[in-house]
Amino acid sequence: MEERRVALITGGSRGIGKAIALKFAKEGYNIVVNGVSNSEEAKETIKEIQSNNVEAILLKADVSNYNECEEMVKQAVEKFGRIDVLVNNAGITKDNLLMRMSEEDFDKVISINLKGTFNMSKIVSALMMKRRYGRIVSISSVVGVAGNAGQCNYAASKAGIIGFTKSLAKELASRNVLANAIAPGFINTDMTAVLSDTVKENINNQIPLKRMGTAEEIANAAYFLGGAENTYITGQVLNVDGGMLM
Ligand code: NAP
Repeated sequence: MEERRVALITGGSRGIGKAIALKFAKEGYNIVVNGVSNSEEAKETIKEIQSNNVEAILLKADVSNYNECEEMVKQAVEKFGRIDVLVNNAGITKDNLLMRMSEEDFDKVISINLKGTFNMSKIVSALMMKRRYGRIVSISSVVGVAGNAGQCNYAASKAGIIGFTKSLAKELASRNVLANAIAPGFINTDMTAVLSDTVKENINNQIPLKRMGTAEEIANAAYFLGGAENTYITGQVLNVDGGMLM
């Protein structure tokens, strides 16, 4: 039997990352789930993935820490021998107006969202280039394209991911490693659960489809760009936002 392909999803323990991990599992990939907390929820996610008759492991690492990323990738390769797909999904918000935003909150968001994407892409793409195969999908945001008051740090990190992805795509194309980004709109996860009903109603009014998206809708896009069927799309940003940005 042909060896299964392997997908590593940072921040795969819950939310959008979990949905992406489940989608790749349903398509027959073995899965490496990464989180920063080793929570019970993450362990449940692993069981759910395994119920698709694929193998899955949970590796704890803070993506903003280069050494921890290296160790995680080493363990993933020891277990599965390969990484075909990297999804840079781990991300946080620390919102505030610029006047009130601390230097610490700026640095924290940049270091997890953007530097984490650098760390993981650098380490994993070296392996992909050797194998002449790889798919890297990084999760940006509509906010990285359009900006958002109260999110200077987050928007900068997500805009950074777009420039990073386009540069990476140009560097890696000759080795058959494709790099793309997804810019989700507002998606129902823990990250947006903190928004009040009034804010959610205002958001829905700005979305042509008049509702927030689901993690599964982002997962379908991640598979479209990260699956083996994608052989000719690279350096692109796919908006999955119910029509918010056109
Ligand atoms: P979420 O529900 O808050 O989940 C965040 C995930 O990231 C968790 O798995 C968490 O792990 C992990 N994580 C956080 N810090 C980490 C670190 N330093 N190292 C490794 N993993 C870390 O978020 P989400 O809504 O699913 O968002 C996923 C991605 O989509 C993020 O990049 C986010 O910016 C982006 N996005 C989300 C929306 C939205 O509306 N939700 C819209 C646009 C873009 P633990 O479980 O261990 O804490």
